[in-house]
Amino acid sequence: MHATLPLLATTHFPPITRHRTEVVQVNVGYVCNQACLHCHVNAGPTRTEAMSRETALQLLEYLEASGASTLDITGGAPELNAQFRMLVREARSRGVHVIDRCNLTVLHQPGQEDLASFLAAQGVAIVASLPCYTEELVDRQRGKGVYESSIAAIRQLNALGYGKAGSPLTLDLVYNPQGPSLPPPQAALEADYKRILGAKGLVFNRLLTLANMPIQRFGSTLVTKGQFNSYMDLLRDSHRDANLETVMCRSLVSVDWQGYLYDCDFNQMLGLPLRVAGRSRMHLTDAMRRDLDGNPIVVRDHCYGCTAGQGSSCGGALE
Ligand code: SF4
Ligand code: SF4
Repeated sequence: MHATLPLLATTHFPPITRHRTEVVQVNVGYVCNQACLHCHVNAGPTRTEAMSRETALQLLEYLEASGASTLDITGGAPELNAQFRMLVREARSRGVHVIDRCNLTVLHQPGQEDLASFLAAQGVAIVASLPCYTEELVDRQRGKGVYESSIAAIRQLNALGYGKAGSPLTLDLVYNPQGPSLPPPQAALEADYKRILGAKGLVFNRLLTLANMPIQRFGSTLVTKGQFNSYMDLLRDSHRDANLETVMCRSLVSVDWQGYLYDCDFNQMLGLPLRVAGRSRMHLTDAMRRDLDGNPIVVRDHCYGCTAGQGSSCGGALE
């Protein structure tokens, strides 16, 4: 795979600083039942990195100390991590809103038969990737059979109340473009998804459109195809200053499976830790009483992926 960090090192991206932490996003490891083409963490079935119980307990302590109101759990397929259900239960018992970044097909993995009902019982919000509403494109990007399995999973979640009007159980879907282009306007695409999935009797709350980041597997593919520079030009040319105030790193701390802190998941994947007072990196155990408000954010050229066009974050478009 081509390394993309050296290609992103020189940047004119504006300096930005952190605000109060509202979301702790944890990547519990890279084990996944899928191996998608665009995956920015290079997750897959052969990866072995996984958060230990000790680190998961430190994470819960940090969550409380930080005052964050949301725990956003990602991976890999986070549900396959042995600490996942403990983290969910403990965070929920502390009144913290929990988001599970779910790939849908994990609901059909052996041993996960009760996963959907566990998530519903705990009131966990589900954010699930469905990069298109056609079988051909989903299977091309995420693997054969993924579309059918995803549709079956949405049906199962709907039956538990997810995505239904008046239900507290939310199901948001995530779209990202297939190639080196910006996502289309979020509201219009959401209406298309609702119409097409609605015809199958499926419902969901919101569609979140995300730009592809020029890093890891997707970035490497761009390099191989000779499209890296033109994609970066597109991101830079589409930059909007108005998006700078709401980029997710302002209010989110990203934690890796070993307990180190980053300004966002993308920086985590690039190996760019959060920097405090000149320290090269910081562990959960050092961060308990540290106020990160006002701390400079580590930026590189990939940051234009967050500020291009309508903007892009874990919560979809920024506009
Ligand atoms: S399902 Fe998500 S984490 Fe797993 S390989 Fe695909 S994009 Fe990566
Ligand atoms: S990639 Fe986006 S979220 Fe991450 S530091 Fe850059 S602007 Fe912030």
